[in-house]
Amino acid sequence: MREPDIGTVLGKCILDNSIIVEGSGLRSNHATLRGGRWVCGECLVGLLDDSVAALTSQQKEAKIETEMLIRKVKKYGWSVNPETGKLEKL
Ligand SMILES: [Zn+2]
Repeated sequence: MREPDIGTVLGKCILDNSIIVEGSGLRSNHATLRGGRWVCGECLVGLLDDSVAALTSQQKEAKIETEMLIRKVKKYGWSVNPETGKLEKL
């Protein structure tokens, strides 16, 4: 894939509203497109703490949901085989 020339304007960051120019280090090297709009590398790094917190929270919720589902299934006489992950009648 052809890289854009140094000094080429990639676009405007949707978070800090600044122009992203190729060759501006972290800002342009790690700039990413989301829904056709740019997020610069600096804003991306700035989102790390919140991203990690969101990911941790999502994983916790998924675990609780799984445990609740397993409990519900057990109540009705079914069990999940831990080896195959399939439902089995108790
Ligand atoms: Zn930005």
